Amino acid sequence: MEKWQKNIANSITTPDELALHFPIDSRPLREVAKRYPMRITPYYLGLIREEADPIWRQCVPDSDELKEDELLPDPLNEEGLSPTRALIHRYPDRVVLLVSSACAVYCRFCMRKRQVGSVEGRFSDSEIDSAIAYIENTPQVRDVILSGGDPLLQPDDLLENILGRLRKIPHVEIIRIGTRTPVTLPERITVRLCRMLKRYHPLYVNTHFNHPWEITPQSSLACARLADAGIQLGNQTVLMKGVNDDTDVMKLLMQKLLAIRVRPYYIHQMDLVKGTGHFRTSVGKGLSILEGLRGHTSGMATPHFVIDLPGGKGKVPILPDCIERGGNRLLLRNYLGEVIEYQDLESDPPCQLAQSY
Ligand SMILES: *Cc1c(COP(=O)(O)O)cnc(C)c1O
Ligand code: SF4
Repeated sequence: MEKWQKNIANSITTPDELALHFPIDSRPLREVAKRYPMRITPYYLGLIREEADPIWRQCVPDSDELKEDELLPDPLNEEGLSPTRALIHRYPDRVVLLVSSACAVYCRFCMRKRQVGSVEGRFSDSEIDSAIAYIENTPQVRDVILSGGDPLLQPDDLLENILGRLRKIPHVEIIRIGTRTPVTLPERITVRLCRMLKRYHPLYVNTHFNHPWEITPQSSLACARLADAGIQLGNQTVLMKGVNDDTDVMKLLMQKLLAIRVRPYYIHQMDLVKGTGHFRTSVGKGLSILEGLRGHTSGMATPHFVIDLPGGKGKVPILPDCIERGGNRLLLRNYLGEVIEYQDLESDPPCQLAQSY
C-alpha cells in the first residue's frame, strides 16, 4: 500500500471519531453522515483551526444537509445526459468520464452528492468500458474530462489503463483531470504518478482550492510536481457562504494560486443541489467579488464567474454591468468606478451587451 492509501485508511469517517479531536456533540451528526458519507483525511483535518471555520464547514457534516426544501439531487440533469452510466455528454465536443465515485474528503457542498461515496454510486469495469466505447464511436468528442468522485483515488495502474485507451482514440485531442487531491490529500501527487501522467500529454489538471488556508507547503509541492511534469493547472472554486464569500479572501486565494502555478479558471455559483442549500449566496455577492478582482489585481487572477444552468443547459459566465450604449457611443465603467466614453465603429451591428438580462 502506498502512503496516500494508508492515509485514506486513517481518515475520520464518523462524527464520533471527530469528537475525539474537537469538543462537539456528535449525536445529531450521525444521521447526516449516514445519509451523505463523511471522510476527512489526516492532512485536511490538520488544516482546521477551530470549529465552524472555512475548512471545517467544507468537510464536517451539518444538520442543515437534511433540511427539507425544494432542491433536487440532480438539478443539472446529469443522469438524463448520460448515454451510458459513467459518462455525461452535454456539450458538442466534450464529455465527462466518471472514473471513480470515491474522494479523499467528502465535501459537504458537492454537486454530485447524490452519488459520491456510496456503494451504489460505484462504477464497474464494464460501465467504464462502455463509456470509452461511446467516446470511440463519437468522433465529435475531442476533449475528455476525467471526473467522479475523484479520478486520482484510483491506483496508478488503473488510471494509466484508462489514459492509455483514451490516447489511442485519434479524435480525442485533450484529456483533463478534475481532482481535489492536491487540496485534500497532497501526498497523492507522487513523483511516480507524475512520471506516468506526463506520458499522456496534452493533459490538463483542474483542481479545486476554495480557501487560502488550503495553500500550504504540501499542496504547493503537489502542484509544483504536476507543473514540472508539463501539466497546465487550472482551479475551479465554488463560492460558498461562510467559506469564501468575501472579496479579500477570494482575492488572496486567486493571487496565491498563481504563486503556486495554478491559473484560476472558474468561480462557480453554488448549484441548486439537495443537501447543500446552506452554502448558497446571492448572484450579486459573486458579482461584487468579481468587481473586487477585475482591475484591482492581475487579469490572470480573475477567473470567469459562472452559473451552471438548471437542466444541464450549460455554464454561463456573468459579468458586472459595465457598459451602456447609445448608438456608436459606448460608456464603459472601469475598476475605479469612473465612466469613460469610447467611440465604436459606425457600421457595425448594434452591440447586444448593454441589454439587461
Ligand atoms: C463543466 C462541464 C464541462 C466542461 O465545461 P468547460 O466550460 O469546457 O470547462 C463539460 N461537461 C459537463 C457536463 C460540465 O458540467
Ligand atoms: S472532491 Fe469533488 S467530487 Fe469529491 S466530494 Fe469533493 S467536490 Fe465532490
